[in-house]
Parts: sequence; structure tokens; C-alpha cells
Amino acid sequence: MSSVRYTRYLAVALVCLTFFYFISRSDLQIPTSASLPKSRPSYEDFRAQKLQSAGNATNERVNATFVTLARNSDIWDIAKSIRTVEDRFNRNYNYDWVFLNDNDFDDDFKKLTTSLVSGTTHYGRIPKDHWSYPEWIDQDKAKEAREEMDRKKIIYGGSESYRHMCRYESGFFFRHPLMMNYEYYWRVEPSIELFCDISTDPFRFMKENGKKYSFVISLYEYYETIPTLWDSVKKFMNNHPEHIPKENAMDFISEDGGETYNKCHFWSNFEIGSLEWLRSKEYIDYFSSLDQDGGFFYERWGDAPVHSIAAAIMLKKEQIHFFNEIAYYHVPFTHCPIEEQTRLDLRCHCKPEENFDWKGYSCTNRWFKVNKMEKPEGWD
Ligand code: GDP
Ligand code: MN
Repeated sequence: MSSVRYTRYLAVALVCLTFFYFISRSDLQIPTSASLPKSRPSYEDFRAQKLQSAGNATNERVNATFVTLARNSDIWDIAKSIRTVEDRFNRNYNYDWVFLNDNDFDDDFKKLTTSLVSGTTHYGRIPKDHWSYPEWIDQDKAKEAREEMDRKKIIYGGSESYRHMCRYESGFFFRHPLMMNYEYYWRVEPSIELFCDISTDPFRFMKENGKKYSFVISLYEYYETIPTLWDSVKKFMNNHPEHIPKENAMDFISEDGGETYNKCHFWSNFEIGSLEWLRSKEYIDYFSSLDQDGGFFYERWGDAPVHSIAAAIMLKKEQIHFFNEIAYYHVPFTHCPIEEQTRLDLRCHCKPEENFDWKGYSCTNRWFKVNKMEKPEGWD
């Protein structure tokens, strides 16, 4: 036998031996459909299993919850948001998370979000009358308004569901039965990002410092979505002067003592706030008065200007807080602390050049001005 032939036999024998070794080791087999688990766990089983191991953070919590309004189709975008909130903060606290939807959440949504949230999750369906037309709304007029705004290419101008969403966030989420036992909320939307560690509990900060509303980004609203909002607000202020404290933040939203609105608003896709304030007689009177005027449907009033105006006219200025340390992204804007030491201490990964606070369309510079707050280092 030539040595070439001998080597060839040896090679074939080796290949065969390797093949038989692999097929004899069941643990090394490539899974086939037959070897995959046949049934997927139900949400109820998974939840029971999760509850046994949950809640191991040692930090003391205040009475607060995260809250997210979402559709089943938002699952992967909300998963991203939860992961960032958990990694930067909630894994150390295990706060609850309430999910609200105008439909039923499906098991896939509930399983994934329950697996990602370190605290207890709750899922609620929105009552029909909180997500539909009040009887005083002329639905033909509302339809015409949508068509007209769609023609003008106003963002979400033609959308009916977006209007229900804005009205729900303005007047109802804080009264959902699942929200009633909490004192503070933190609103989280799909596909947001947090860029820095959150080293102290913002809920506790709010409570201990008497804060009722907070923000990280502020900007000007599109005028076309709110042409008569300020008329409606003025009517409310005339009817309820008892709800308007002197020490309010009117000068943030008006340059002429309340005659006109300058369109500044806090960006409400991020909010940490007091649920008790939203449930107060003052806020409910305000929302009900605006709702009667119909602008959620005849125009496209957003929950951001609605919440912001309420905060600015009915809270004392010092009850509103700007969270510089919470570095945040929601398309298309970023808040990134511009002080280098803060970014290093909090292990931030945002680019300070992308910070929106001091750019032309931001209102945060105005917030600093009317509060006589010191400009951060790096302000031009
Ligand atoms: P944008 O940030 O203004 O562009 O609006 P989004 O699309 O992010 O909507 C705001 C929030 O409302 C997000 O948390 C969405 O998941 C939620 N949302 C919007 N429309 C609906 C809807 O029709 N049903 C439900 N359940 N949630 C919605
Ligand atoms: Mn959003």
C-alpha cells in the first residue's frame, strides 16, 4: 500500500469516526422540530414562576409606577425601552410597570414585558368611554377637520387614533383602575433611550421636594395643531381664577402675562409626575373644560401642550422640575448633560453635541431664564 493511499484510508476512517461520535451524543445534536419543546408556556404559568423570584432589590421604593400606553404591535419597540430603563435604573429598585391599551394585550406582549421588567407588571384595557367620542362632539365636523389637516400634511393630522391617544393621555390614564393606588408615575414610550445611570431615585426626589411635574426636553408646538387651545385655556382661567396661583410659571409659556401662548411645552413622551395632582379638582376642571371645547377632535391638541399649560398655570413654579441628569432620547431629540464630570460620573454614552437644550427650537433656555437658573458650563 502506497503511503498516499494509506493516508487517504486514515482520513476517511477519521471522518467516519467523528460522524458516529456526533450522532451518538444526543446533547450535541442540532435541534430538529421534533427535539424542540412542543408547547409554549402560557402567560399565567410564566407570571406565577416569575413572581416567586421577583423583587430582590434592597432600595426602598416610594409609591410609584412606570406607565406605558401601547399596542401589541409596539412589542419590540417597548422591549427596547424597558431594557434601557432597567439597565440604567429599575434593576436597583424593581418599581411596578403598568401597561395600558385600547385593546387586550396578547400573551406574547405580556410574557416578554414581564420577563424584562424587574418589578411587578400589570396589564389594563382602557374603558370604551375613555377612548371614543363624547356625545357633544360632531363627528362629521371632526372627520372634515382630519381630512383638511391631512391635505395640509400636518403630522398625524389625518389620524383618528392619534387623537384618541392624545385625549386619553391628557385626561384619563391617571384614573385607570390600575393607576388609582399609586402616587407618582413615570411615562415611558416605545424606542426611547436613557444614556446615563440614574443614581438617585427620581420618584423619591419628586416626593421629598414637593415636585408635581418634571421634564427633560421642551420645545415649541406646531401652531396648526392648536389654533384655539389658548382661547380655551383663557376661558378656563376666567371661569376658575381660584385654580391659578400667583407664583405659577406663566412667564415660561407666555411673553405677555398670559395674553398669548408662546407655544413652549414640555415634551410629554417623558414625564415623571404626581398622579394626585392630575386627579385633583383643579386638573379635572381644566381637562373637562378643554374637552368640552372639542379641540382634541376639531384640531389635534397634543397631551404635551395640554399637560404643560396645566403645569405652568396651576402649579407653583418650584413644583416643576428639570431633570438634567436624566439623559434621554426619543426620536428625533436628545437631552445629554453637557457637563463632562456629570457624564463621567454617571457613565453616560450620549454625545454632548447632540444635546437639544440650547438649540434654536428648544424652550429649555427660556426655562432657565424665567427661573434665574445658572447657565451650565458650555452654554454659548
Ligand atoms: P409620537 O411620539 O407623538 O410620535 O407618538 P407615538 O406613536 O409614540 O404614540 C404615543 C404613545 O401612545 C406611545 O406610547 C404609543 O405606543 C401609544 N399609542 C399611539 N397610538 C396608539 C393606539 O392607537 N393604541 C394604543 N394602545 N396605544 C397607542
Ligand atoms: Mn413616541
